[in-house]
Amino acid sequence: MTGFVQHGPGEFCAVMTREGEPLVEYEWWDPAPESGPPTIGRCRNCGHRGVVYEPLPADPARDELAERFAGWMGGMLDWDVKVREEHADLHKELFDLHAPVGVVVLDGKPGAAPVKVRQCRECGGDGWPCRTLRILAKPHRWAPGWDERWSA
Ligand SMILES: [Zn+2]
Ligand SMILES: [Zn+2]
Repeated sequence: MTGFVQHGPGEFCAVMTREGEPLVEYEWWDPAPESGPPTIGRCRNCGHRGVVYEPLPADPARDELAERFAGWMGGMLDWDVKVREEHADLHKELFDLHAPVGVVVLDGKPGAAPVKVRQCRECGGDGWPCRTLRILAKPHRWAPGWDERWSA
């Protein structure tokens, strides 16, 4: 697992830990956390004092659009399965295979905060839905709820 610790404005450390391990070491003079791992303390990567940083979505509007697509497309495919549309099960399998995953990226610029983006589990790349799912969505584009931004 990789987490992030902020040391100052534009100063971030990527910290590798095993599942469940804290990103910072608690120091005795710090206020004890009410629950969960400490969020301020000595960085497990560089040893300097820092605060645990939770990356934010790179683009909340795009996230919202992806969320809407997931619901809309899932509904379309469930309907197809119900009415025994030809290849409906295969399309549903494809849809599940190309599910989105959240990844954290550092865009390489010094001082840039790490951000969360969505990618296709299968295709990787930038953004979700991927090209495969956009093509899969094509025959349904006359249904209510369709958004032009999902076109292939
Ligand atoms: Zn550090
Ligand atoms: Zn894909």
